Amino acid sequence: MPKEETFWNPYRLIPVEKVQDRKPPVTDEKFKGISGVLKCTLDNLTPLFIGENRNDKKKFLVKNGSPVIPGTSLKGMFRSLSEIVGKGCFCVDNPEVPDDYARCKKIDRLCASCRIFGMMEKGKEARVHKGNISISDGELREGGNTVDLLILLANCGMRHEPFYRSQNTGELDWKSRKMYFHQPKRKKDVLLLLTEKLRERAISIKALLPGHVFAFEIQFTNLSQEELDLLVYVVALEDHVEIEIPVSEIDTLHGPLRHKIGQGKPLGLGSCKITIDEIVYVDTSSNRFKSIALKENKVLKNEQLKKEIEQCTKKFREDQSLTMKQFRKMMVWDENDPRDFRYPEYEWFRRNSQKELKEI
Ligand SMILES: [Zn+2]
Repeated sequence: MPKEETFWNPYRLIPVEKVQDRKPPVTDEKFKGISGVLKCTLDNLTPLFIGENRNDKKKFLVKNGSPVIPGTSLKGMFRSLSEIVGKGCFCVDNPEVPDDYARCKKIDRLCASCRIFGMMEKGKEARVHKGNISISDGELREGGNTVDLLILLANCGMRHEPFYRSQNTGELDWKSRKMYFHQPKRKKDVLLLLTEKLRERAISIKALLPGHVFAFEIQFTNLSQEELDLLVYVVALEDHVEIEIPVSEIDTLHGPLRHKIGQGKPLGLGSCKITIDEIVYVDTSSNRFKSIALKENKVLKNEQLKKEIEQCTKKFREDQSLTMKQFRKMMVWDENDPRDFRYPEYEWFRRNSQKELKEI
């Protein structure tokens, strides 16, 4: 929330660390490293909306008659989390971002996120690393109810500079990332209230009500153990955290960490629970010229799967760095979270031109 206010701004910037460990990726020809598939499901916890296309921003994206979550949206979501958690580069072109935080430039010096998710050089003779994973579209398994929501999809074009300063330095230094809070109240209260002024620019969309289930797969090839750990963490996150937010009437929030996907994040849309239902490891090393025989796959489910996920995510769960502490504060899903989230109104910005957000 802004200082001296009771409502919470829907987003804030969290501090991130410098890019670590830039190195060449392992490419397809080599067949070393770990390969396999993560089989996953996604349940939406608040209304979900992914627009059909640029021209029609009102309908949910449909393929073969069913709503679908594009693999590219899933990939984008996991990538941005891996950039924060895995000390990756900030994959945008912004000349103000300091070098040791900025986008990787050469294909043979890539951060973990670029090695896993892919990267393209700039300019003539640009080389491409297509990434070591591929993610399928999320296909609908359960649900089918939509709700009409009046929302403002475009941002207001207003950027309140003090909200973008890094909390730990107090400066606009691009050493932090924007994240949105979950808004569990939106589960029940799907009427999104807009002020008169904004209502004129709002559009009505068909969003999916909570309770839809989508299935998708993440195929990975030639990952190092560290890369696989990072991938598993950004998909599985954490089952339970306890967060102290001392600057408000709330003392603690507790619950799992959850993802956010699609449009309308400032309004609380797109919170979702992602579950890894199965990990399949494929042995490619002994079998590089043959098609992959089923018997050589190792399938992990239930208890074995649980142990494997615990093992992979351990170092991230134990990480008490400032970045990870703040990351958890943004990602925690507490059903009883009482906070009121909204953007300040135009008048507020005008009157409070230098007011920053409170520390959390
Ligand atoms: Zn990178």
